[in-house]
Amino acid sequence: MTDTQPKKVALVTGSSRGLGRAMALKLATDGFDIAVHYGRNAAEAEKVAEEVRAHGVRAGVFGADLTTPANAGKLVEDVIAGMGRLDVLVNNAGITRDGVAIRMKDEDWDAVIQTNLSSAFSACRAAIKHMLRARSGRIVNIASVVGLTGNPGQANYVASKAGLIGLTKALAKEYGGRGITVNAVAPGFIESDMTGALAEDVRQGYLAGIPLARFGQPEEVAALVAFLASDGAGYITGQTIGVDGGLNPH
Ligand code: NAP
Repeated sequence: MTDTQPKKVALVTGSSRGLGRAMALKLATDGFDIAVHYGRNAAEAEKVAEEVRAHGVRAGVFGADLTTPANAGKLVEDVIAGMGRLDVLVNNAGITRDGVAIRMKDEDWDAVIQTNLSSAFSACRAAIKHMLRARSGRIVNIASVVGLTGNPGQANYVASKAGLIGLTKALAKEYGGRGITVNAVAPGFIESDMTGALAEDVRQGYLAGIPLARFGQPEEVAALVAFLASDGAGYITGQTIGVDGGLNPH
């Protein structure tokens, strides 16, 4: 991108903290203007936006509760209206509501599916309508290694992430001919608030199964997301790529 061209805009959902924050900052260093999205942590999102601006690009801050999928489509429309365009959508916002299946409440099933999967679909649909007019666009869906392997106590989360992987493949086939790539990233165990909440014995259990013998850092996921958003990844679509220290080689 040169100074004479308008900068491309990337929206990262759930970029007020964790992996999404690292993605927003990496994409900013790569020259994208950034739409920082938050659910509840407006002050944290403002801080991320300040860090983004320090890289010499624009940052907009957008709040939306993605427990309600329609809000995700509206979020995309707000970003396009507020920032003028949308070139990259990263569906990163996600939650867990763990519990064994026989005791899982319907509301915990619904909250996870709606936030992690239905909202991502709603955002994709709104973004693709815009990207079709531009005849180009990049979508990256943040899935999880457990969406490929399964995990006890996470039927809702695993189903949402496996669903995201299927959604990724379907949209890649539907819109590849129109210059839009859609890929999924499947992180393993990455240091963040989400994994920080796990019990120490559970953390140690995960560690024992990781060939690289350490947990990942948010920046290590962000590096792949930024590559998938870059010109160099123009011939990659419909893929699910792990960033998991070798947990699930395939
Ligand atoms: P995190 O630290 O818990 O951050 C979650 C982000 O999502 C926050 O920015 C949060 O915004 C946003 N969010 C959550 N619920 C929302 C809602 N209802 N509406 C709007 N925004 C909402 O999580 P993380 O560890 O960075 O994970 C990011 C993504 O990577 C998730 O999709 C997760 O499933 C996936 N992942 C993580 C790991 C890992 O090891 N950490 C592994 C595999 C996959 P607010 O704080 O502003 O509400």
